[in-house]
Amino acid sequence: MGGGKRRAQLNRCRSLKVTAIIELTLLGQISNTGLAGAICHDGGASATDRGGFVTDARFDVVVIGGGVVGLGSAIALGEAGRRVVVLEAEGRVAPHQSGHNSGVIHAGLYYQPGSLRARLCKEGREALHAFLEREGVPFRRSGKLVVATSDSERPALEELARRGTANGLVGLRALDAAELRSLEPNVAGVAGVLVAETGLVDYAEVARAYRKVIERLGGEVRTDARVLGIRGAGGGITVTTSSRSIEAGAVVNCGGLQADRIARMAGVDPQVQIVPFRGEYCELAPAAQSLVSRPIYPVPNPAFPFLGVHFTPRLDGRVEAGPNAVLAWHREGYRSSDFCLHDAVEMLGYAGFWRFAARHWRLGLAEMGRSWSQARFVEALQKLVPAVRAEDLEAGGSGVRAQAVDREGKLVNDFLFVEGERSLHVLNAPSPAATASLAIGRVVAERLMAQA
Ligand SMILES: Cc1cc2nc3c(=O)[nH]c(=O)nc-3n(C[C@H](O)[C@H](O)[C@H](O)COP(=O)(O)OP(=O)(O)OC[C@H]3O[C@@H](n4cnc5c(N)ncnc54)[C@H](O)[C@@H]3O)c2cc1C
Repeated sequence: MGGGKRRAQLNRCRSLKVTAIIELTLLGQISNTGLAGAICHDGGASATDRGGFVTDARFDVVVIGGGVVGLGSAIALGEAGRRVVVLEAEGRVAPHQSGHNSGVIHAGLYYQPGSLRARLCKEGREALHAFLEREGVPFRRSGKLVVATSDSERPALEELARRGTANGLVGLRALDAAELRSLEPNVAGVAGVLVAETGLVDYAEVARAYRKVIERLGGEVRTDARVLGIRGAGGGITVTTSSRSIEAGAVVNCGGLQADRIARMAGVDPQVQIVPFRGEYCELAPAAQSLVSRPIYPVPNPAFPFLGVHFTPRLDGRVEAGPNAVLAWHREGYRSSDFCLHDAVEMLGYAGFWRFAARHWRLGLAEMGRSWSQARFVEALQKLVPAVRAEDLEAGGSGVRAQAVDREGKLVNDFLFVEGERSLHVLNAPSPAATASLAIGRVVAERLMAQA
C-alpha cells in the first residue's frame, strides 16, 4: 500500500481530530446541537403537561429505556406478573450503549469479589446463555486470553486469576509463554490466563429477542417514545412523552447516558452525574483477521479495567481493535467532532468532574494521546500482537460509556440503584451490564416489588 493511501486510512481510523481546547473555544459559538449533526438531548427535563394528550390505560410499571438493562428489567417484571410498558426514546431498541459495545459475554474476572458486579455478572452470564439457547440467538463460547507482556505484569495477572476463582470461575487456566503461543501463535506474552467462560454475542440482536419475550409476556415496547416528564399523581405515577400521558403504579429508570437527568425529572437526587467516555474502535482488514481467533486482552489497570485496547472477534468474522476511552463532549455523539453545549456545560459545572480530572489527568492525556496518535494506538496493539501493522487497521465504530462519577470525583465502581417513591433508578450500569442484564433485571424487579 502506498504511503499516501496508508496515511489516509490511518487518518480515517484516527478518532479525535478536534481537541478539547478547540471544542471549549467553540463553547460559546455553537448551538445546542451536535457539531456534526448528532441530536443533543437534555433528558427531557422541560416537560409540561399539555392538552390533547392521550392517556393510556394504567400499567403496573413504566420502564424508561429500551437498552438491554431496561428490557431485561421488563422481562423480570413481566415474569412476576406485572403489566409493563417500555418507553424508548429512539426508533429502535438498543440504539445507544447496548448496540455500540464489544459484544463480549464477560466471565466475571475483574470485579471485586462480593460486589454486585461480580455476582450479577456470573448470574447474568448463566441466565443469558440459557436465554440465547432457548430463543435461538447465535453466540459463541470463544474463551479469551489475558496476556502479560512483561514480567512486571505477572503479579497483577496472578491477582486477576485469584479474583476470577473467588468470583466462581471454573474455566481459568494459567499459561506460560509457550502455551500462549500454541493457542494464539501471533500473540506475544510472557504469561497468560485462559478464561474459558467468556463468549461472544451481538447485543442488538439480544435486545430484539428480549423485546419479543416482553411482548409474549403481555408487555409492550414503544419506540419513538421519549419521556419528557414524570410526576406523582393520585397514588401512582404519570409519565409523559411528546404525544402521550401514561399512568402507572411505578417507574423504573434505565436511561443509560440520561439516567441522572431522568432521576431528577422524577424528583430524585441521583447522587452522581453521568460522565460520558467515548470508546473508539478500529477493525482489522480482512487479510489480517486471522491474526487472532479469540478475544485478547492486556492485564488491566485494576482502577480502570475498561482501559487498555484489546482484540475482539465479532460473530460476523470482523475483528475489532480497541476501544480506547476518551472524554466525550456529547453523551450520545459517536463521532469525535460531535459536541453538545448542554452536555459540556453540565459536565464542566459539576464539581465531581473537576475532582476526577485533577486526580486522573495523566491517564486521560495518555488515552487522548492514543486517540490522536495512530502510532501510539498501533504500538499498544503491537504489545499484544507484534505482527499487526498500521496498514492492517481500518476505521471502526465507536460507543459511549455512561460512567457515574460521585461528588468527590470518584468513578462509581459497582452497579448503582437509587430508590425514590414508586420509582427505581439504575444510575450506574457499566460493563458487564449487558452480560448481566437479565440478573440486573431480577434485582430491579425484586427491589421495586419490595416497595409495594
Ligand atoms: C464501548 C463499549 C463497550 C462495551 N462492551 C461491553 C461488552 O463487551 N460486554 C458487556 O457486557 N458490556 C459492555 N459494555 C457495557 C454495556 O454495553 C452497557 O453496560 C449496557 O449496554 C447498558 O445498558 P443500558 O440499557 O443501561 O443502557 P443503554 O443501552 O444506553 O440504554 C438506555 C436507553 O435509554 C434510552 N433513553 C434515554 N433517555 C430516555 C428518555 N428520556 N425516554 C425514553 N428513553 C430514553 C436511550 O435511548 C437508550 O436506548 C460496553 C459499553 C461500551 C460503551
